Parts: sequence; C-alpha cells; structure tokens
Amino acid sequence: MLQGPIKNGPILNAMSVDIEDWFQVGAFEHTIDRTDWDSLTRRVERNTHAVIEMFDRAGVKATFFTLGWVAERHPALMRAIVDAGHELASHGYGHERVFTLSPEVFSRNIDRTKKLLEDSSGAMVTGYRAPSFSIDKRTPWAHEILAERGYGYSSSVAPVQSDHYGWPEAGRFAFRPVDGSDLIELPVTTAEFAGKRLAAGGGGWFRMLPYAFSRWAFNQVNQRDARPGIFYFHPWEIDPDQPRVSHAPLKSRLRHYTNLSAMEAKMDRMLAAFEWGRVDSVAELEKLRLA
Ligand SMILES: [Zn+2]
Repeated sequence: MLQGPIKNGPILNAMSVDIEDWFQVGAFEHTIDRTDWDSLTRRVERNTHAVIEMFDRAGVKATFFTLGWVAERHPALMRAIVDAGHELASHGYGHERVFTLSPEVFSRNIDRTKKLLEDSSGAMVTGYRAPSFSIDKRTPWAHEILAERGYGYSSSVAPVQSDHYGWPEAGRFAFRPVDGSDLIELPVTTAEFAGKRLAAGGGGWFRMLPYAFSRWAFNQVNQRDARPGIFYFHPWEIDPDQPRVSHAPLKSRLRHYTNLSAMEAKMDRMLAAFEWGRVDSVAELEKLRLA
C-alpha cells in the first residue's frame, strides 16, 4: 500500500531565559554602577524559581543562560535549574558586552563563568549567549574562541538593526561561523515584513507589542520559513514588584518597566501556542540540517 506524504510534526522552537538581576540590564548600565551590585536587593533567585514553575506548568524544558556573577552567589539555584531538566548555559560573567572586551579578557571571562556554572551544578556547559547579543561583525574572534573552547553552539547574534545591538548583515537562521568547526550560531528570531527585518525573538519587544505580533512572527518562521524560532526573556520581566530605578532616563525606564504585570500571562500563551525545547536540542537538529 502506498504511504501518504510524510507529515512533519510541529517545529521545535528554542525557549531561553537570560538569568541576570534587575540591576544588571543594559538599560541601566549608565545609572547603576557595577561596584554597587552587591549592595542591591537581589530578586534573581525568587524570580528564577517562578520561571521554573512557569515552565513546569507548561511542560516545557528550556535553556537558562546564566551570569557567572549569579552562579557565584546562588549555587543552589544552579542545581535547581539542572534538577528540573533544563539546560544551564553561559551568559558571561558580569554582563560585559563582547565588543567592549579584548579577546584575552573575553577568554578569561567565559572560562571563569563556565567553571562557576559547572562546579555549582555538576552539569557540563556547552552553550553561550553574549550579553545584549553583542557578537557582531566587529568581533569575529569571539566565535573562534568559543569553537576553540569546544562549545557546541552560540546564540549571540541579533541579525537586525537596533539602537542597542545588531548585526543586520548576518543570516536570520543557523550558520557555522568558524570554518572547520562544528560550532553553530543560532541567531535570535527576526520576522520579515514589507521587505524589512523586525526583532521578534522576545525581550522588551514581546512585552511592549501585542501578543498577536509574536504569534504572527513565530508562525511565519515555523510555517513560511520552516525553521525553528529562538525566543528569550528575563526573570525580572515577570517581577512587577522589583525596586524602581527612578533616576534612570525615561527611555530606559519605559524599556524596562512597560507591561511587567502582564508578562507572565502572555508567556503562558506563548508557551502553549508553540512547541518548545532547550537550545541544545534545537542546535543538534539544526546541525543535522546544515550537515
Ligand atoms: Zn543579558
């Protein structure tokens, strides 16, 4: 008997969360001095537990890109992430943007972070995300160093023009950034509209725009492009009770505080609407496709 056409199941998208506290974000870098970080009230532990519970409710396994600074202060949290079945991966030590570092300082920064994450969790770290998607055309050495260190993937490129970051000339989907290496780069999701690329991978855009925009964007990527999407958000985005930084510029405050209280319900919808998995799982599938 003839088989009908093989029906593909839904595409597995990558769900990720960047584990940093409310005072470590790019929007406040000129307002809050990093030497003050240790004197501020930390919310990252309770917020990350809330994220783990949210994923539990949805039955989703995800990747937690975590700062070395956080791992150093919350080692039990690292074990809790891994024990819940999630992937623990690196977000660098103290949220230093890659293009502000020399190759030597970058190497030390990621080595220190990998050791802190692995020692506290007992799990091996094979994934990396640059703070503020700060790998771009200025830093070809960053992917080379990650390849040299044996990382399996990086998800550090935003292939779009934005005021804070972006490498608009980069491809929208998985690519191998270093010749002769198995390392794969999974750029954060963009959508296309009227010939323009739009940031659509999560974070502030997800919070500020209606839910329907993100649903449309991920449908476009999964259905028209037949590729996985890469989504990200932060634990402080589901925390409307975090301390307010009143002396930051208005634009930074808008970026940071808009729609915090609606975020968790919005995330629940996004988690239910698509198929989600860890970034390392999506990286393996993309490697098969590129092979
Ligand atoms: Zn970050």
